[in-house]
Amino acid sequence: MTYDVVVVGAGPAGSTIAKIVAERGFKVLVLEKYTLDREKPCGGAISNRVVEHFRIPEKAFARKCTGIFFCSPKNRTAVIGKRGKIRFVMRSVFDKVLCQMAMDKGAEFFEKSLVNEPLIKNGKVIGVKAKIEGKTKTIKGKLVIAADGTPSTMAKKLELYSGRPNTIGFCFQYQMELSNELIEQRIGSNMEIYFGSQWIPFGYTWIFPKNNVVTVGCGTWIDVIQQRKISLKEQLDHFIKKHPVASTKLEGAKVLHSQAHLIGFPGVLKDNVAKGCLIVGDASGTVSIVNSEGIWYSMKSGEAAGISAAETLEKGDVSANTIRTNYYKNLDQKVKDDFRFAAKIRNFINSDSKQQRTVVSIIKDQWWANLIESIIDGTCPLKKGFKQVRSRPDKMLKAYALYR
Ligand SMILES: Cc1cc2nc3c(=O)[nH]c(=O)nc-3n(C[C@H](O)[C@H](O)[C@H](O)COP(=O)(O)OP(=O)(O)OC[C@H]3O[C@@H](n4cnc5c(N)ncnc54)[C@H](O)[C@@H]3O)c2cc1C
Repeated sequence: MTYDVVVVGAGPAGSTIAKIVAERGFKVLVLEKYTLDREKPCGGAISNRVVEHFRIPEKAFARKCTGIFFCSPKNRTAVIGKRGKIRFVMRSVFDKVLCQMAMDKGAEFFEKSLVNEPLIKNGKVIGVKAKIEGKTKTIKGKLVIAADGTPSTMAKKLELYSGRPNTIGFCFQYQMELSNELIEQRIGSNMEIYFGSQWIPFGYTWIFPKNNVVTVGCGTWIDVIQQRKISLKEQLDHFIKKHPVASTKLEGAKVLHSQAHLIGFPGVLKDNVAKGCLIVGDASGTVSIVNSEGIWYSMKSGEAAGISAAETLEKGDVSANTIRTNYYKNLDQKVKDDFRFAAKIRNFINSDSKQQRTVVSIIKDQWWANLIESIIDGTCPLKKGFKQVRSRPDKMLKAYALYR
């Protein structure tokens, strides 16, 4: 079997690549180790820019988010945002819709197809070895793009994985059954974010309402987990039972299943190209360290990879340098800036006292509420948000002096 492009992984990045490459008339195959009705561990909150930019049909969404609820480490609460700029998805539905959009353009898709390793000839990746419905097969491609999430098998086999614990997050979450009636009474359609190191240090805990289901999870960095020897399951169980605000909202909610997954942040790879193979999406660390938003960034990464693949094939030059140059040329400048400014923004919320001030600032000052809402719903790029804060030392001073 020979293709122009072989894509490993049918998550948001993989399907985005496949759609673009197929649209441009190339023969593309996506290999996915599971069936697409799997529920990829994810909070499933997506900003409207995903919907608008990638023209995602309504059937992909479980619920429209109407507000953002914050609970501070000392249990001050605030709800901001009435603009409905965020949606909630179940990944078993969302990923299927994206994959179908790619297939409608002519992409081929094999599920239950586990890629074990790249096929290498004369120092170049020329395909993959995969177990497809129980049989080991060799699939060749002029270009292979890995969008296989974190930790990426392809990146590991190509010795690109940096494995640095401060570039990897770990999340644990439950999908919990709660009737829509109780969701309306207790949570509404708000995205709920809980701060406080007693619940999870250097991270946050979330409750996202869907359709008769709430996704409840927590996450932090691997090095924090290692140093503090904490179990995320124990932290989350403690939160569900004991949090003074959340425990009453979750009373009677039944665990349907638990999920644990790694998140790759920038720096998770030493490089994202080896032997002519490009690694994109979560596999390459395209998740924002501000709020762990990854779907938008993985799709933008997939978009840049898809356009670059088509350009590279049109010119007939599939060298590693051309692939890398094309990818970074096509990667949206705003996305590159977001990654540059994410660490600076994260500094504003990386301790209990800062998180406390953030929530109180939201309550007391509409300027902060508007800014934070627009950063979370993706309407304010992080560079612009950072500049806005720097241009208002009066707001910073007030937040530090008064809001506790
Ligand atoms: C608990 C949790 C909560 C999150 N919440 C949010 C959120 O609310 N909003 C948000 O925007 N982001 C969130 N993220 C991040 C988001 O899930 C990712 O950024 C996004 O899924 C990345 O898409 P991707 O296509 O790059 O990778 P993935 O979605 O991980 O897709 C990779 C695909 O490759 C397949 N695969 C892996 N290995 C192989 C192999 N060897 N052979 C074949 N197939 C393979 C996998 O089965 C999978 O389908 C969350 C992440 C976690 C872990």
